[in-house]
Amino acid sequence: MTTYPLSDADREIQERARRFVDDELIPWELHAEEHGGQIPEEEHRAHEAKARELGLSGMNLPKELGGGGFTTLQQVLVSEQIGRVTNALGWCVHTPAEWAPEVMTDEQIERWLKPAIRGERSECYAITEAGAGSDVDAIQATARRDGDEYVLAGEKMHVTSFNRADHIFFQAKIVGGDHAGEHAMFVVDKDTPGVRLVREPRYTHTYPDTHAIVAFDDVRVPASQLIGAEGDGMSFTYAWFRYERLMIAARCCGAAERLIEEATAFAKERVQFGQPIIENQAISHMLADSLTELWAARLMTYRLAENIDAGADVKIQHAQCSMAKLYASEMAGRVADRAVQIFGGRGYMRENVAERFWREVRVDRIWEGTSEIQREIVADQLVKRGAQALAG
Ligand SMILES: Cc1cc2nc3c(=O)[nH]c(=O)nc-3n(C[C@H](O)[C@H](O)[C@H](O)COP(=O)(O)OP(=O)(O)OC[C@H]3O[C@@H](n4cnc5c(N)ncnc54)[C@H](O)[C@@H]3O)c2cc1C
Repeated sequence: MTTYPLSDADREIQERARRFVDDELIPWELHAEEHGGQIPEEEHRAHEAKARELGLSGMNLPKELGGGGFTTLQQVLVSEQIGRVTNALGWCVHTPAEWAPEVMTDEQIERWLKPAIRGERSECYAITEAGAGSDVDAIQATARRDGDEYVLAGEKMHVTSFNRADHIFFQAKIVGGDHAGEHAMFVVDKDTPGVRLVREPRYTHTYPDTHAIVAFDDVRVPASQLIGAEGDGMSFTYAWFRYERLMIAARCCGAAERLIEEATAFAKERVQFGQPIIENQAISHMLADSLTELWAARLMTYRLAENIDAGADVKIQHAQCSMAKLYASEMAGRVADRAVQIFGGRGYMRENVAERFWREVRVDRIWEGTSEIQREIVADQLVKRGAQALAG
C-alpha cells in the first residue's frame, strides 16, 4: 500500500483500518452530506461497534485500561486511513485523552476514562473562549476553591462534539490561594447544574457533531474532579495539542491520497477536445505536484511518529508536531483545491468528494493552533535549538 518500510504488524493494522473505511464508511459519505452529516442512528452505532471490535477505538490507550496499546506509528497509520473519509463518519473511531492515564486518579480513570475507552461515555474539550483562541493564556474562565469543592465559571466556544459528549474537560484559571492565576483542568459531567448550552452555530463542514458555545454558571464540582494539581492545566493542553497535531497531519495525508486517486481516475476518463483531460500537462502536472507533496508530508508524519515512539525529547516532539501539522494541512489544502479544479464544474457540486474535502480540510489550518501559530512554535525552537536538532 505504501513504500515506507513497515513491519507486518503495522501493515496489518493499516489494512484493517483501510478496509473499514472503504467497506463500511465511504458508502455512507454521500448520504451523510445530504442529511446534515447524519446517518441513521443504528448505522452510526454499528460503525462505533465495528471500530471497537477492530481495535481502532481506544487504540491510543494502554491495554491494561482496555485500550489497544498501539504504537504512535500505528495510530498514525490508522488516522491516515480515517482521513480518507469525511470526519462526519470517521469520528466513529474514538480516541479518548491519551495524556489522561498518567495524571488521572484511580477514581477518575474508573469513572470517566475506562468507560470512554469502552465506548460507554464520551468527552469534549472546553478551552477556547471568545477572547482566548491562539492565546490560550488569555482565558478568563475561573476556578475558585470553596471547601471540598471548586466553583467553575466562564463561557467557552467551539466546543466540538458537545452534543454527543457526556463529560467535558474544562480549563480555567485558579482564583485565590498559592496558585492564583495558574491554569487548571477539570472533568465535569455535562448534566452538572450550571452547565448551559448557549447555542450551536453552523460551520463550513457538514458534521453531526456540533461546536457549541457553552456557559459554566458557577458550576460546583468536588475537588476530586481537578485533574492533576492546580497549575498543571496547560501541560495537559500541550500534550493534547501534540497528539492532535500529529493525527491531523496523518488525516490530511489520507485526505490527499483519496483526492489524488479520485482526481486521477476522473482525469483519465473525462474526455474533452477528443482526448482524456489527463493528456494535458496543465492537468497532469497538478496531480504530479499533489503526489510529490503527499509523499513529503507522509514521510515527515511517519518519521515523527517513529521519533515519538523512540522517546524523542518532548520539546523536539512539540516543534516537529507543529511542522507536520503545518506542512500536511497546507498540502491537503492545495491538493483539495487542485482536485476541485480537475473535476471542473462537478468539483463544485456538494455530491463530489473534492468539494467536500475542499471545505473540510480548511479547518486543519485553524484548529489545534493556526498555521501562523505553528510557524511561531517552529521558529522559536529553531532559534533555541538549531536546524540540526529539528530537521537533521
Ligand atoms: C471547527 C472548530 C472546532 C474547534 N474545536 C475546539 C474544541 O473542541 N475545543 C476548544 O477549546 N477549541 C476548539 N476550537 C478552537 C480552535 O483551537 C481555535 O479556533 C484556534 O486555536 C484559533 O483561535 P481563534 O479562532 O480564536 O483565532 P485567533 O487567535 O483570534 O486568530 C485570528 C488570526 O490571527 C492570527 N494570529 C493570532 N495570533 C497570532 C500571532 N501571534 N502571530 C501571527 N498570527 C496570529 C491567527 O493565526 C489567525 O489567522 C475549534 C475551532 C474550530 C474552527
